Amino acid sequence: MSLSTAIRDVAGGFKSLLVGMRITLGQAIKPSITVQYPHQTLKMPARFRGHVKLVLDPETGKSRCTACGLCVKACPSDCIELDGIKREGEKKKSVTEYELDFTKCSLCGSCVDVCPSDAIEYSKDYNVVSLNREDFSHMDLVKRLEAEAEIWRKHHPPQAAAVATTPVTAPAALATGAKTPSPGQKAP
Ligand code: SF4
Ligand code: SF4
Repeated sequence: MSLSTAIRDVAGGFKSLLVGMRITLGQAIKPSITVQYPHQTLKMPARFRGHVKLVLDPETGKSRCTACGLCVKACPSDCIELDGIKREGEKKKSVTEYELDFTKCSLCGSCVDVCPSDAIEYSKDYNVVSLNREDFSHMDLVKRLEAEAEIWRKHHPPQAAAVATTPVTAPAALATGAKTPSPGQKAP
């Protein structure tokens, strides 16, 4: 090996070392992106698709679902069962039961797209876990919404809360356990 080749090799190796050091130092001083799960959780991006959930109307603190059944008809996997009642003085029905079989759901989005009231959306839950299969095959979306509604009521003045205290569930229907098939739904 000639002297000039040796010098070129050493210079090349040194340059490569400097490039490597620059990258290493650059990464070392960057803020950490490690999330200390489960004490911290990530904020999911807007287009993330978690399981389908009922939307809480920020104006009323209640569901916007009118139990029209279009989502039931649109679902290709037959994973939605719902029921509703028409309360006195109200023009439309209110949802009283909304059960999702998340074990069959492909998150295709047909139900979300077809809903005329924007009453359902994808949740941002990415870490739903359970030892019980039933928690996924019979996801009670009304119950989940009621938990959100409780928080909503805590943060709204009494007048607004009074409007929203009408539970999203129908006590009569729940008490009797009555469950009528929704439009497009087979009777049990
Ligand atoms: S996302 Fe698709 S498969 Fe899942 S419940 Fe909605 S329509 Fe059915
Ligand atoms: S399509 Fe929308 S309003 Fe109709 S039952 Fe489904 S979620 Fe409720």
